[in-house]
Amino acid sequence: MTRATEDALGRLQAAGPKPRYVVSGCLAGLRCRYDGGSNPCPQVVKLVEAGLALPVCPESLSGLPVPRPPCEQVLCGPEKKKIRVLSRSGEDVTDAFEHGAKRALDAALAAGCRAAILKARSPSCGVGEVYDGSFGHRLRPGDGLWARLLREAGFSLWTEDNLPPDLPV
Ligand code: SF4
Repeated sequence: MTRATEDALGRLQAAGPKPRYVVSGCLAGLRCRYDGGSNPCPQVVKLVEAGLALPVCPESLSGLPVPRPPCEQVLCGPEKKKIRVLSRSGEDVTDAFEHGAKRALDAALAAGCRAAILKARSPSCGVGEVYDGSFGHRLRPGDGLWARLLREAGFSLWTEDNLPPDLPV
């Protein structure tokens, strides 16, 4: 767990039995993006500051560094159903991404979160659509690896483009 996530977890625990969101770290302003940047979303930042959300970055939990090469999901195999994650130069980082996604799911469950606000279109965090592996800003239907685990665990999933209608802050 990163230091920023640990600090937010302390605020979350102190807030008591209120709605608890897990959120993509970059939406909370953490500089965890592949290029060392972030994508702060004002509503998500407010949730974290109020102790109502836990910022987590699955790719930071994967063991990959910041910065790191940009990566996208690629559909492989004869029926194009097998998902691999490749860097722009073709390095296969699927195992690292899956490891980070599992660690991020564990962190969300341990904190008692049941809903997630995730960075749209990311290979880890995208909800319902992700970049298609062409590195040409084209999309295909599907979830990021962490989003898929959260969905399977019963989380309701939102993005910065489609925020929950009943946010408490
Ligand atoms: Fe943001 Fe998710 Fe990418 Fe981390 S893995 S930088 S939280 S989109």
